[in-house]
Amino acid sequence: MKKIFCPICFDEGKFSFISKNNYKIYNCKNKKCKHYFLLEPKKEQGIHKRNNDLTIESDQNLKEYGERNKRLLKLFLKKISRRKKYKFLDFGSGCAHISRTFKTYLGNKAKIYCLEANHKCRKFYPRWDLIPVSNLENIEEKIDIIYMIEVIEHLKNPKEILLNLKKVMDKNSLLFLSTPPGYYDEKLTNAYDNPTHIHFFTPESLNNLLRSVGFKKISFDSFSEMYPLKTKISFVKKIIYYIKLFFKKTFINTQRKYYKKKYPFHLVGFTKLEI
Ligand SMILES: [Zn+2]
Repeated sequence: MKKIFCPICFDEGKFSFISKNNYKIYNCKNKKCKHYFLLEPKKEQGIHKRNNDLTIESDQNLKEYGERNKRLLKLFLKKISRRKKYKFLDFGSGCAHISRTFKTYLGNKAKIYCLEANHKCRKFYPRWDLIPVSNLENIEEKIDIIYMIEVIEHLKNPKEILLNLKKVMDKNSLLFLSTPPGYYDEKLTNAYDNPTHIHFFTPESLNNLLRSVGFKKISFDSFSEMYPLKTKISFVKKIIYYIKLFFKKTFINTQRKYYKKKYPFHLVGFTKLEI
């Protein structure tokens, strides 16, 4: 039988289970990796199909995530040093609702590059004052923060992409990553829901990947900034929420509260170059 190798640590892998999308999911045997993956993704497997009019999709997302995006921006600005003009890179920008929010609040104080594999998306970006780029060579300056939100699981070759990203980074640049984790039990994650996902990272496998290309290890944390506030909550509940937020003890997804520590819903964190 043909040997299977983990695309992250190159240790031996094995067949694990058939996912709800009827894909064969493989798992790395290395206990310090445990990466889940598809063996032979199709050529354009990772690319999300989109509405012909991206504005509709983008507006809908803005409605749902606009307030969340604002909190995410606050978090980013806390982490990067104050500048006259910020340089951001939205990697895998899709319908660009996140960068639209950022641009609305930062205006001329930010230059926001948007890189997206689906070329149909690019023509919409200038409408929102965002800069479309088809590859990183088009960026001739160092970026303050690159955000890859729910993107890395779509990449056929994440190692190559991360190596490329280093070209637009210096010692102060930050990379913000989020991805739904891979577990054996499909019910604990939405990683297997999307048929365009190729990789299902564990904290160990994501850090193995980062370390192998010269990034620092991430201490994964739960960030309330990743989740929209429930809109129909009462005033009292909102106050309680903000008090909890203040003490950094909050995590919005109550259903998964119990499993929060053992089975986080997202792997999220910041990393920098190991220099
Ligand atoms: Zn592995």
